[in-house]
Amino acid sequence: MLDKDIEKILITREQIQMRCAELGKQLTEEYQDKTPLVVGVLKGAVPFMADIVREMDCYLEIDFLDVSSYGNATVSSGEVKIVKDLDTNVEGRDLLIVEDIIDSGRTLAYLVDLFKYRKAKSVKIVTLLDKPEGRVVPIEADYVGFDVPNEFVVGYGLDYIQQYRNLPYVGVLKPSVYQS
Ligand code: 5GP
Ligand code: MG
Ligand code: MG
Repeated sequence: MLDKDIEKILITREQIQMRCAELGKQLTEEYQDKTPLVVGVLKGAVPFMADIVREMDCYLEIDFLDVSSYGNATVSSGEVKIVKDLDTNVEGRDLLIVEDIIDSGRTLAYLVDLFKYRKAKSVKIVTLLDKPEGRVVPIEADYVGFDVPNEFVVGYGLDYIQQYRNLPYVGVLKPSVYQS
């Protein structure tokens, strides 16, 4: 039913599953003796977070926070604020931030600074998608699922006006969806 709104599929469910398994192996090695706090950025990172932690064969904890920067538009407003904070004290912890996509880099730059200020022992980033052309702030993820072109993408957690997060793949919407 949702398929009718999609112009093209950029990354299939199978590609995502395979990449999660690869990333999970690397993260398992990285965090073998560390019991990281895996921090999911709501709401977009939820499907990827669920996949990636199940590919990590080590002790870990999970927590979530919600930041806002975009509102319901498809372009960034440039400001980041915390809408829901973590429940966990991050002091002395090894943090792995899980994001859906890095575009301008503002969200992650803000979060990395915040967690360093809160005295995290280490802060690393894994993102499902990276849009290198969108970068305004110089920040790179330690682990990237896939690079995507400078287009607005939806699915696998990523929304358009809070919808399409449940698509099991990443794609681009038909122009007609934006007009209605
Ligand atoms: P940044 O702060 O790096 O510019 O953007 C980070 C957030 O903006 C992402 O976590 C995501 O919520 C949103 N975003 C950036 N690009 C896209 C996109 O192409 N599609 C969707 N749905 N959200 C995006
Ligand atoms: Mg996000
Ligand atoms: Mg959004």
